[in-house]
Amino acid sequence: MIVSQRKSYEELLLHLEGLHTLFLIGCSACATACKSGGEEEVDRMEEWLMANGRQVTGSAVIDSPCNINRTARDLRDHRAQVDEADAILVMACGAGVHSVALKSGKRVVGALDTLFLGNIRRIGQFEEKCSICGACLLNETGGICPATLCPKGLLNGPCGGMEDGKCETDRELDCAWCQIYDRLKSEGRGGVFNRIVPPRDWQRKLPPGKLTV
Ligand code: SF4
Ligand code: SF4
Repeated sequence: MIVSQRKSYEELLLHLEGLHTLFLIGCSACATACKSGGEEEVDRMEEWLMANGRQVTGSAVIDSPCNINRTARDLRDHRAQVDEADAILVMACGAGVHSVALKSGKRVVGALDTLFLGNIRRIGQFEEKCSICGACLLNETGGICPATLCPKGLLNGPCGGMEDGKCETDRELDCAWCQIYDRLKSEGRGGVFNRIVPPRDWQRKLPPGKLTV
């Protein structure tokens, strides 16, 4: 899931300068789970906008605004309200904001910051376990990602700062490379420790990503 968080109201006011009427778009998938852009948050945003002198022409919580065609369809369903607005305030990740900008032809204001691809620990608690590097090492690391869980992103570790299995950047944090070592040991294999991993091939992750299947 894509984890996102609402921008501060102070920052939003800066982005909304000169905009008097707004149409709101939320996301019924990731942003709903993160409590950053679901029905409740869209209602709260509407109240806040009105309290700050704005008019809201309407709102829609789209099923995955990252889906470009679905976003286009939902925008068509609200065409009159969208046309009436100075801008569309989008409460979705950056991919959602992009779909809305592409298909509405209107000025868009992103209300959220997109943070990371998150695993769900429990409701409302998300943790980054993969940072989408494009060249996955997990088969050699016992399913534990050093690129993400090591704050230095080291592909060969541990570093000299590790102490008693803890990370030098934060002694509360378990060193990713010690976790990898323990895991591989329990599986009876050397895995990634059998070789020196070469520097990352950044060509594998050149943005913008594109895939057709
Ligand atoms: S190595 Fe880590 S960051 Fe890269 S794809 Fe695998 S899990 Fe994700
Ligand atoms: S102590 Fe371990 S997790 Fe922390 S920076 Fe060094 S190798 Fe990475």
